[in-house]
Amino acid sequence: MAENTLLTCDNCKVEISPVEVNCEHCGYPIAGSEKEKAIFIGQQISNKATIAEAGKYRKRSAYVLYIVGALQLLSGALTYMQIGDIFVLLITMAIGVTFIAFGYFSSKRPLLFVALGLGLILSLYALDFVFDPASLTKGILWKIAIVGTLVYSLINSYDEQQIRKKNKSL
Ligand SMILES: [Zn+2]
Repeated sequence: MAENTLLTCDNCKVEISPVEVNCEHCGYPIAGSEKEKAIFIGQQISNKATIAEAGKYRKRSAYVLYIVGALQLLSGALTYMQIGDIFVLLITMAIGVTFIAFGYFSSKRPLLFVALGLGLILSLYALDFVFDPASLTKGILWKIAIVGTLVYSLINSYDEQQIRKKNKSL
């Protein structure tokens, strides 16, 4: 075989030069031992699982942000009907719409918008706590579920980003 004949990578099927030790595209150890190749494939399966998990949690955290936003809108409307304060209504509406927007944009830039949503919700919990310390334990399981989903989604998105940086074929 001539030195400049191209081969295809067994893993990603991209054409590669036979003088390469690792595939330029996916990092597959072309010149490696069977064991090295097996380790690479195992790593790749685990990377794909991480990416799938990140996708699942990206959707879940978007729903969480939508629901939190919708509940803000609802509670704003209810409070307005009770006390008739237009200022409270506008603030609550603005916060609700912001959560829904963060949910929408989190599918495109999860790290940024899930983090913003998490920051906003923690700020609201902190504000509630300042005005009424007893409010902290109100719906505590929901709060833990909401914060937990957003945090877990952030961790997964970060892992996914790191994997994609190293391996552009995934
Ligand atoms: Zn490859």
